[in-house]
Amino acid sequence: MTPAIVVWFKRDLRVVDHEPLDRAVREGKVLPLYIVEPEYWSKDYTSGRQWSFLKDSLISLDRELTALGQPLWTVIGDVEKVLDHLYKEFRFCRIVSHQETGPGWTYERDLKVKRWSEDHGVVWDEYRQHGVVRGLQERRGWASQWGELMGLPQFSVPKKILGVGSPPIVASDVLQRFSCSNEISMSSQEGGRSNALSLLDSFLDRRCETYRSGMSSPSTGEIVCSRISTHLSVGTLSLREVWQRTLDRRQILKKQTANSVALRSLKSFQSRLHWHCHFIQKLESEPRLEFEELHRGFIGLRQGEPDLEIERLDRFCRGALGWPFVDACLRCLAATGWLNFRMRAMLVSIASYHLWVDWQKTGIQMARWFTDFEAGIHWSQIQMQSGNTGINANRIYSPIKQSEDQDPQGIFIKRWVPELESVPIEWIHQPWRMPPRLQQKIGCRIGLDYPEPIGDPTQLAREARSRLKSWIESHDMKPEAKRVLKAHGSRLRQVRPRYGKKASLSQMALDLE
Ligand SMILES: Cc1cc2nc3c(=O)[nH]c(=O)nc-3n(C[C@H](O)[C@H](O)[C@H](O)COP(=O)(O)OP(=O)(O)OC[C@H]3O[C@@H](n4cnc5c(N)ncnc54)[C@H](O)[C@@H]3O)c2cc1C
Repeated sequence: MTPAIVVWFKRDLRVVDHEPLDRAVREGKVLPLYIVEPEYWSKDYTSGRQWSFLKDSLISLDRELTALGQPLWTVIGDVEKVLDHLYKEFRFCRIVSHQETGPGWTYERDLKVKRWSEDHGVVWDEYRQHGVVRGLQERRGWASQWGELMGLPQFSVPKKILGVGSPPIVASDVLQRFSCSNEISMSSQEGGRSNALSLLDSFLDRRCETYRSGMSSPSTGEIVCSRISTHLSVGTLSLREVWQRTLDRRQILKKQTANSVALRSLKSFQSRLHWHCHFIQKLESEPRLEFEELHRGFIGLRQGEPDLEIERLDRFCRGALGWPFVDACLRCLAATGWLNFRMRAMLVSIASYHLWVDWQKTGIQMARWFTDFEAGIHWSQIQMQSGNTGINANRIYSPIKQSEDQDPQGIFIKRWVPELESVPIEWIHQPWRMPPRLQQKIGCRIGLDYPEPIGDPTQLAREARSRLKSWIESHDMKPEAKRVLKAHGSRLRQVRPRYGKKASLSQMALDLE
């Protein structure tokens, strides 16, 4: 009898557009496997809300697989021990999975699986699931290969799976036995394929209309953004599926109404789908960016006053900086697990510049908060918004300007910072300027009912700029900037280089927003 093929599900929890599953089903008997790895879930960038979303998605995958004839085998444990155990029972010769670009921990884990496979004479085949390329030396040609991959037909759902039979314990019971030690409160989003599809449908059918105009504000962004990031990160949607559905929708819109607003919005959305892989590629090509400044010239920049950093980071984590709009964003993220792109960028910029906190500490805290934590996008963005890349413009956001622009009526602020409910609109962006008698009268005393501001934002930004300037002037930054540009810069748009005059045509980088 031919031995079963193990289909190892990782961050690809679906049965549609799933090349490893498609291949295994064509070749013979299948053992669909998910391994819950306690060591991964003890890492400081994981959280209970990520686990909860994943659990929903695994239950949904189990349902889909069961309907095709073979339930999911879900096992808790160290990957080598799990494989040892299954190998004794099934003597499989082949494992198939998607390639994964995750944190350093998953990379090390994959090396162990590779060694295990070699030791046992098992072949482990990995397939691409999106536009990230393994072993890439430089970015030339990357965008066109991405386009080609997105244009290929999707793998259809297998009609039936010939499998190894039911697992000893059903997936839902196994999943009940595990919990993540970092119990950040639940996510506002639920996992699973049907939730993924309804989000995508509602976005393409209706919500996309105001995507472009509404994406920058945290209140409207919550509604008009697609909100599919968490589904992409666990793979309940395939990127190609989303890309192709978007193209189809654009065709319909073009014919039906020539609705130019929605069409432009969908174009912006398509750029972001491209960025998804563009950023993950950076981590794939240079895994050290999880641990070290991308541009090595910035290593050591933020070493300084540890006590001050502890206090500032603590206030950041509690959403108690005394800057209402920033606190509202922090509390919204802590409570829901999601925030729009611009506000994520603003929070990192404030932590890295105004508060001068080490980017890694901010990055770990934010990763825990995000239900959609995707290491490649996350660490690349943290590096970029902290000014560590040497090829992107440094964005030092003004918390007051962002507040006035994105929440002019203070509605978002009052929703997330209820202590400020009674503050009149003219003071809502800078309540510390309210006359003391007014503070007394409305029952919102700064320093008692709501924290004193952590500092003057303009002054703190000025200090950050000057520290940065003297650092750059006293270090030779150009050679490393060239290296980063060659390895990671997108060839889509021409920008000025960070340390010199106008870029030559060969020096181009993607500058976001
Ligand atoms: C500091 C920081 C950390 C981030 N960490 C993550 C993360 O861990 N996981 C994550 O998925 N996104 C991350 N992002 C990118 C972005 O903020 C989110 O993808 C987006 O807000 C998710 O909401 P959405 O699905 O409604 O996005 P939409 O605006 O609807 O975009 C659709 C999809 O495009 C991709 N995308 C959108 N914006 C970006 C971007 N700037 N870079 C790369 N891909 C993008 C995402 O896959 C997203 O789901 C981060 C951004 C910043 C500034």
